[in-house]
Amino acid sequence: MWTISASRLILRRSEGLRALWWKDNSRASPAARTKRSTEFFALSNRVVFPPSYGMLSAMGVVSSRVRKSKIASAVVRLENVSRVYGSGGGATHALRDVTLDIGAGAFVKVVGTSGSGKTTLLNIIGGLDTSYAGRAVVAGRDLRALNDKALSRFRNRTVGFVFQHFHLLDHLDALQNVALASFFSGREEDSRQRAEEVLARVGLKDKMRQLPGQLSGGQKQRVAIARALYNRPALILADEPTGNLDTRTSGQIIGLFERLNAEDGITVVAVTHEDHLFRRATRGVRLEDGRVVEGREA
Ligand code: ADP
Ligand code: MG
Repeated sequence: MWTISASRLILRRSEGLRALWWKDNSRASPAARTKRSTEFFALSNRVVFPPSYGMLSAMGVVSSRVRKSKIASAVVRLENVSRVYGSGGGATHALRDVTLDIGAGAFVKVVGTSGSGKTTLLNIIGGLDTSYAGRAVVAGRDLRALNDKALSRFRNRTVGFVFQHFHLLDHLDALQNVALASFFSGREEDSRQRAEEVLARVGLKDKMRQLPGQLSGGQKQRVAIARALYNRPALILADEPTGNLDTRTSGQIIGLFERLNAEDGITVVAVTHEDHLFRRATRGVRLEDGRVVEGREA
């Protein structure tokens, strides 16, 4: 049985959260498992996986005082960032000397072929990966200089993550899935009210009590976006958010990102294969083999 203490969040099974015991598919490839682990980590802030990648073994989240004011701007600055996976002959240079500036309020699409380094870039900006060379400053924080607690808080408070796979818990309804975000922020706020607010923002006012199984793909992604909005992020990082959706639904989801950007002032960085759908992006960044070949400057 998990318990809750003042500074650490631990989940109670009685709250219907046992699906957070991350069930992995043992047939999935190691690469797919790593990807899912990272994504789940982004959503839950700190998750420790056992080497077997079986069940989620522990979850601890550092909470802190309720932040009084919103972060004024989300500016991303990467200076000569390189990321190498592995070493020696088997090394993969996922990012090579990337220098990139993203101004507050930008709507950036990141494009490039599979394996060009898009996810790696997003993981570094989002504070999920600090094993890079160079410097990454996001919303005024030099990410590698942050300790674990500060980095958790940064991921939780400053960034909203959205993925291709929605990562909703099947046995929780939309409202509960979104309210889950409150568990990781330590904010003393009426989580139900806030969850209703963000669900209304994404156009799901009348679907709050539906389980994911009763929602379409586009609606599920809206729930995931609402969850990302819950903690009032300055920056949304979306990794192929329309990768599982048909063209029409993709257009609607992108329209939602556009509104969040234009009306709520949230900086959006979205990785996409569907370049043509992101017509209103204020900026395009193209990666090729780990290098930015277009759109370096803000
Ligand atoms: P994209 O998102 O553009 O498809 P990624 O950033 O996922 O690209 O990957 C960039 C390169 O780094 C690819 O060659 C990929 O195989 C490699 N890579 C990504 N993650 C890992 C990892 N955890 N271990 C080893 N190699 C990785
Ligand atoms: Mg990717």
